[in-house]
Amino acid sequence: MVVPILCSIYLGFLRPVSNITENNETGQDENPRPVSPLMVGVKGICPACNKGELFNGLLDLNETCDVCGFDMRAADPGDGPAVFVILILGALVVVGMLILEFKIGVPVWVHFVLWPIVVIGGSIWMLRVLKGWIFAMQYRHDAKQGELDEGADGDADE
Ligand SMILES: [Zn+2]
Repeated sequence: MVVPILCSIYLGFLRPVSNITENNETGQDENPRPVSPLMVGVKGICPACNKGELFNGLLDLNETCDVCGFDMRAADPGDGPAVFVILILGALVVVGMLILEFKIGVPVWVHFVLWPIVVIGGSIWMLRVLKGWIFAMQYRHDAKQGELDEGADGDADE
């Protein structure tokens, strides 16, 4: 019971209780039924309003949402999604190649036709989904750049 709930929180299907109360107190959450971060990536929609386009073109994030004006530059996931794509898709492709070669025994031209399509198409699709998911998780959990703690009196260099 605990593991599925924790998995749901980490994948973004549920919100931690602290975020629900925080958003309700400040009135920032105007959407009564927010889309899960995974669906933000799948649909390519703005995590703030769930209506605007997340992507400008194939893989570039929009700078601002054209519906709600949300500034998307602050939560750019950078190269984070690429690491997941390399590790996950790379492993799947290698396993698929080994199965096709040694279990099924397809001709070599099948590898030359199949795997470039799977790698290129899969990479682009997974990059969009993971970029949107990580972006939405950063938005949902209010992740920010690290800042120096300057203490109570603001004297960090002493
Ligand atoms: Zn928006």
